Amino acid sequence: MNSVCIIGAGVVGCAIARELSKYELDITILEKEHDVSMGSSKANSGIIHAGYGTSPGSLKTLLCVKGNALYDNLEKELNFGFRRCGSLVLGFTEEDRTELEKLLASGRENNVKGLEIIGHDAILGLDPGINPDVLCALYAPSAGVASPYELAIAFAENSLANGAAFVPGAEVKRIIRDGKTWHVETAAGSFEADIIINSAGLFSDIVSAMAGFSDFAVKPRKGQYLIFDRWSGLDINHVLFQVPGKLGKGILVTPTFHNNLMIGPDALNIDSRYDYLPDREALLKILEVSKVSYMIPEPQKIIRTFSGIRAVSSTGDFVVSSPAPGFINTGGIDSPGLTSSPAIALLVKGFVEKYLGKLEDKKDFNPRRTPVIKERLNLPPDEVERLIKLPDTSDDRIVCRCEQVRQSVILDSLRRGITVTSTDGVKRRTRAGMGRCQGAFCRKRVRALIAREYGINEESVSGPDRESYDIMFLKRGSGVKG
Ligand SMILES: Cc1cc2nc3c(=O)[nH]c(=O)nc-3n(C[C@H](O)[C@H](O)[C@H](O)COP(=O)(O)OP(=O)(O)OC[C@H]3O[C@@H](n4cnc5c(N)ncnc54)[C@H](O)[C@@H]3O)c2cc1C
Repeated sequence: MNSVCIIGAGVVGCAIARELSKYELDITILEKEHDVSMGSSKANSGIIHAGYGTSPGSLKTLLCVKGNALYDNLEKELNFGFRRCGSLVLGFTEEDRTELEKLLASGRENNVKGLEIIGHDAILGLDPGINPDVLCALYAPSAGVASPYELAIAFAENSLANGAAFVPGAEVKRIIRDGKTWHVETAAGSFEADIIINSAGLFSDIVSAMAGFSDFAVKPRKGQYLIFDRWSGLDINHVLFQVPGKLGKGILVTPTFHNNLMIGPDALNIDSRYDYLPDREALLKILEVSKVSYMIPEPQKIIRTFSGIRAVSSTGDFVVSSPAPGFINTGGIDSPGLTSSPAIALLVKGFVEKYLGKLEDKKDFNPRRTPVIKERLNLPPDEVERLIKLPDTSDDRIVCRCEQVRQSVILDSLRRGITVTSTDGVKRRTRAGMGRCQGAFCRKRVRALIAREYGINEESVSGPDRESYDIMFLKRGSGVKG
């Protein structure tokens, strides 16, 4: 059987693993971190873009529009969290209207369905909290919101259920070609494969250069966000964009899939690929600018800030290419890479078939993955208090008070093929720790459950992956918390 090593377990690498696991191939995913979805795929806007915002004819556009159309079926099969809620780009002046008309024309050229420019009354009819000064908006009914890390996790879990292997802690250091075989040296040992797929995100140019191909460079571009408590008095139905600027789509105001209000991101070219700490001034600016679109609630309702780093390609477009037989690059995948990921996977499958010939179907491929979060509890406080006090032998016990997550859900998330050794890994899968107290109550309980499940020490379970700027700065000065 032919072997494939995928380098990088972001949404792109995991989408490729899932697509290729439909065929008789021996697939290994090599990831430098301890879990899947640890790069750009865990910290982004989660918008499934319609496809009007990128240049006609670019790879970004083709893959975005194609990827967007695949989401309804993906959600049915993988249950990661997707809602086709539609988006509005808001215009407040006649100059904005001219920009919206340009977007409409480019969207039509890109074959985006259902686009139209709508007026003041129709806009407020769709989302009554929008600034009433709004004049016009580009409405895109095909846009949606997805839970980005749950998508990457779902792709990975389904590929594992269909025979793929996941190796965490396997930072790739060296790639050598020997005849038709590729040798990959990693921090977790050496691997051999007939095909290498480089999906290393922010580091994809470095991995490509390891194999001798330096035809693109990645330029990091940071984006920062603020998240509000779930149902924080708001009733927002659509993704709200402002008219885009030179560096991107502008500050957006959106419900997340799980109904938190999220605002951001900005777009800041940076030198470091590790500069994740949000910046006070930037966050204040985002708060200010977002008020132009929507009735933003009080800062007291903010529960977290975070940053993501886009892997912007020096070529100005996604790099999906095969610079040598058996070596495939998916590099410089910035936005709309989340939207495009299932279409990128199909394109990569095409490269694999070009090299190996037609792939043989796996007869017992199972496209389905059951959801981790099967129900959203909305229990009254006294019932929550009762369930919190149950012993830790009871799977009915509530572990996370804010998001009302039962112990059974957490245990299920640990038993799906990937060993989850961080409380943040559980948080992304189950939402335990995603609520108002951000894990202050449940982190200890989650850590104990992970340790018990895998028979490891609690000290070896890691805590929060990244720092958040202390949201209290809005009330009492400044500071950074871990
Ligand atoms: C601020 C921001 C907002 C965005 N908003 C949207 C949006 O709304 N909609 C949308 O469609 N897209 C959006 N995107 C883009 C989207 O997040 C990315 O395109 C997508 O996540 C890229 O996935 P990836 O798998 O290529 O990279 P990543 O998720 O970064 O994954 C790469 C993986 O490779 C691993 N790796 C790196 N080097 C090595 C090595 N040497 N060995 C082994 N493993 C390695 C990393 O640890 C990482 O896990 C946004 C991005 C950002 C940052």
